[in-house]
Amino acid sequence: MRILLCNDDGITAAGLLALYRSVRDLGEVTVVAPAGPKSASSHAVTVGIPITCRKMHVHEEFWGYAVAGSPADCVKLALAELMPDRPDLVLSGINHGANAGVDILYSGTVAAAAEGAMFGVASAAVSLEIAQEADFDRAGRIARKVIDSLLAAGLPPASLTNVNIPALRPGTPKGVRLARQSTLAYEDTFEKTGSGGETMYVLTGGRMDIGKDGETDLHALRAGYVSVTPLHFDLTDQAALARLAGVPWAAEF
Ligand code: MN
Repeated sequence: MRILLCNDDGITAAGLLALYRSVRDLGEVTVVAPAGPKSASSHAVTVGIPITCRKMHVHEEFWGYAVAGSPADCVKLALAELMPDRPDLVLSGINHGANAGVDILYSGTVAAAAEGAMFGVASAAVSLEIAQEADFDRAGRIARKVIDSLLAAGLPPASLTNVNIPALRPGTPKGVRLARQSTLAYEDTFEKTGSGGETMYVLTGGRMDIGKDGETDLHALRAGYVSVTPLHFDLTDQAALARLAGVPWAAEF
């Protein structure tokens, strides 16, 4: 099996090393990742500017391509240029911090996997909820078990799976929960500083109370379970499509 490994925390991140170690025996692993941290870069792509790509030896353990671009850039470049043979699987992570709920939309980790899925490759993003100490070695072993289950179930081409590992404590994870994505927004506040003609704002705030409907990815994590959420990048609102079908649109302009 050929695996493309990417992330958004940068090629030297501990989470990427952990995921590399946990899947390297599955086949041939090609690492193409941002040269530096690109968290919350979402699905950005670099256009009209050359992207530097440097082959580097990472942690004296593997060779990878460090790309001065976004996570989506990395996957594009890997599929179009760096990997003569198409990967069977794109893996992104392990991200330092959960990518559940609306964070999925901000996440560069998920975007890298989504990019793989857009090009027809089965893809999965793996993230670890922040705890006092991030035990990526253990997270890697957990990720591998989940990936094995997904592979055994059969990951169709172009499928996109979002995996979140809960904060690791004794007794967690308690298991795996299939969960839908929470759509709960953040309660945004800004810290305001500055003087004169310039004001600076720093995004603060936090998440709203996630409520009691225990079905979402956020609830699974809070309960100490690994959340598995199949996603699609087709953002069509099917219900609205049906609702708007009856609109008497103007026929002439
Ligand atoms: Mn990140």
